[in-house]
Amino acid sequence: MRGMTIKKIMFTEEELGGIVSELADKINSDLCGAESLTVLCVLKGAVMFTADLVRRLNVPDIRIEFIRASSYGKSDVSSGEVSVGDATGDIRGRDVLVVEDIIDTGRTLNSLKERLLNMRPKSLRFCGLFDKPSRRIADFKADYVGAVIPDEFIVGYGLDYAECYRHLPYVAVIELNS
Ligand code: 5GP
Ligand code: MG
Repeated sequence: MRGMTIKKIMFTEEELGGIVSELADKINSDLCGAESLTVLCVLKGAVMFTADLVRRLNVPDIRIEFIRASSYGKSDVSSGEVSVGDATGDIRGRDVLVVEDIIDTGRTLNSLKERLLNMRPKSLRFCGLFDKPSRRIADFKADYVGAVIPDEFIVGYGLDYAECYRHLPYVAVIELNS
């Protein structure tokens, strides 16, 4: 693997906590009165975010499911090819909230949306922690976005570069040294 240095911290641990709290407040008010919810975490990047978000949701019966989707492979440039695993759990007739780390070209969530709608959920909402609208190719708009960010490659808080740096408690912009 090429060397890497941290260029700058984009969001500290505290800032991430604030972003997640704000998102949870919005989701809670939209879901006010809902009895149950299926939270569908898009692996692996959204794991930390999902774990923090669900602990702030007020719905009494929450199920957490996981789906695998990847478009980047080992590169820092999206391949444009999206492979989406099979959703676990039965979402038919359920309110579903898809939780994703970052929306980039929009291809991942666009193709996931199509598949999930075929499974006839009662409702389907999408929540992205980060959004890079300047990179959008597919026509996709999330219901909830934590922070809009510029076109920079970030790691940490679940986000990786070649499977590394997911464990960082903050989000940073990295510089790849060749
Ligand atoms: P897209 O919206 O292009 O289909 O892909 C979104 C996926 O690309 C995200 O789930 C994430 O895995 C990856 N991705 C996009 N931008 C970044 C980034 O800045 N850093 C990292 N680590 N992954 C990214
Ligand atoms: Mg991802």
